[in-house]
Amino acid sequence: MTTLATLFGRSGKRFGFKLSQKIWLTLGYLSLLSLPFLATFALDMAHQDSYATTLMTINMLAMMAFYIQFPLASRLKQIPLFANIDWSISRHKKVGQWLGIIFLFHPILILAPRFMVSFNDGMHSLISVITAPQMLTGLIAWVAMIIWILTAIFKDALPLRYETWRFSHMLGFVVITILATLHVTSVGSHGQFQASFNLIWWSLCSASIAMVLYNYSIKPFIQRSQPFKLLDVSQISRTDWQVTIEKKSDSAFNFTAGQFVWLNTSQHSGGVKEHPFSIASCQRDLPKISFIIRNLGDYTSKLNQLTVGQDVYLDGPYGSMNLAESANAKAIVLIAGGAGIGPMLSLLRGLAEAHDPRPIRLIYGNNHMDQMVLQDEIKRLEKTMPNFKQQLACLTAPICTDIYQGVIDTCCIEAVIKSESPDDWTVYLCGPKPMITSVNKSLKSLKISRANIHFEHLSF
Ligand SMILES: Cc1cc2nc3c(=O)[nH]c(=O)nc-3n(C[C@H](O)[C@H](O)[C@H](O)COP(=O)(O)OP(=O)(O)OC[C@H]3O[C@@H](n4cnc5c(N)ncnc54)[C@H](O)[C@@H]3O)c2cc1C
Repeated sequence: MTTLATLFGRSGKRFGFKLSQKIWLTLGYLSLLSLPFLATFALDMAHQDSYATTLMTINMLAMMAFYIQFPLASRLKQIPLFANIDWSISRHKKVGQWLGIIFLFHPILILAPRFMVSFNDGMHSLISVITAPQMLTGLIAWVAMIIWILTAIFKDALPLRYETWRFSHMLGFVVITILATLHVTSVGSHGQFQASFNLIWWSLCSASIAMVLYNYSIKPFIQRSQPFKLLDVSQISRTDWQVTIEKKSDSAFNFTAGQFVWLNTSQHSGGVKEHPFSIASCQRDLPKISFIIRNLGDYTSKLNQLTVGQDVYLDGPYGSMNLAESANAKAIVLIAGGAGIGPMLSLLRGLAEAHDPRPIRLIYGNNHMDQMVLQDEIKRLEKTMPNFKQQLACLTAPICTDIYQGVIDTCCIEAVIKSESPDDWTVYLCGPKPMITSVNKSLKSLKISRANIHFEHLSF
């Protein structure tokens, strides 16, 4: 794995050209995916007719993709292939949906040729599949997998707390993995004939479960040895809190502006009681770290009930949005919607600390004026930074002010960036998903290159 990770490192410079990190991650993923398939050649396993071979290849790739879902969701920042959490989580979600479709059709594709021979033959095979004792593990895994994938796709519509869903998602898939591995190694076309091949599947199954154990028992243990202390929770707008914590132990914690952590204030490290929040402070503030958190639900509405001085735990930092991405830009625009101001403030504070002379603009949108946070500090930065201006956007702003009346749309952005050519701007963007989608469309229409847009959703 480490060799692969090194091979598919960030720049691709060893091949004399520069490929984007996403391409290298995708190539790394595809290489990993093909390993069991390549092993069939290494073990010189017999191939059957072309339909069976195609089916076997699809099943083998799907099964491998299923195992890779575990590291994709495991926040393994030590392994470069899985360290880009935004890429890993979006891959995990997309691949999960494809796996749902492939596994749904898995028995249908196996039985289809028999139905084509004759309906009776097909029905006979179907009944023997359903009733054969050796098929039980596969049958349970198949039904459970479809249900669990559907609950992941529609999790926002379920009457479940996010934490309950996440725990059942993890537990359910551990059980499904064991059942599916039993199925593959007992009735799978390779497992039946090649005991050595089964070793591969059982090793992958064990590694997947080990990753869950690492996240739920070893990682919490490490976090317990590196606690932070809650310093302050203050309400800084009608809907937002500023939470400040401080590193307690001597352990090294560092981050770059734009990153986020999982914050656990439950007094118990690990588990599912942790929430992702972007760091709003900058490196100079360490060992203190602050967050701007919008009151949106059952956890974020009760932050004032936390006890100052209590231990809190962090997992992170994660996220690839950082100032290095704009090193060659001539101008920078930060666009924040609601709670998206947190990472934008961190970037802005970093730029202020570096006395960056380039044109820097902040477009900050909210539904109501009393949701605009830390305006004193931002206005002070307008005076002290060489070339920085803020543009507020608000649906309910009073008329005849400098505030843009409405949401952050093409018109609003165009007015802010018109001083430079579109190619000169690097854009950082953070906010709720619908806002990110609509601002990305506006940026496209303003001819800002996709390569110069870096964004973070406030949801996975
Ligand atoms: C990378 C990232 C950075 C974020 N940064 C900030 C920030 O700086 N400031 C801010 O106010 N918000 C931020 N959020 C959003 C924040 O995590 C959620 O608003 C918060 O977890 C909601 O918790 P709740 O129980 O109060 O709300 P709920 O009503 O329970 O949940 C609202 C939604 O938040 C998400 N969510 C809830 N709990 C979790 C969890 N434990 N893990 C992941 N997602 C969860 C789910 O999509 C859920 O539908 C960020 C989210 C992500 C993914």
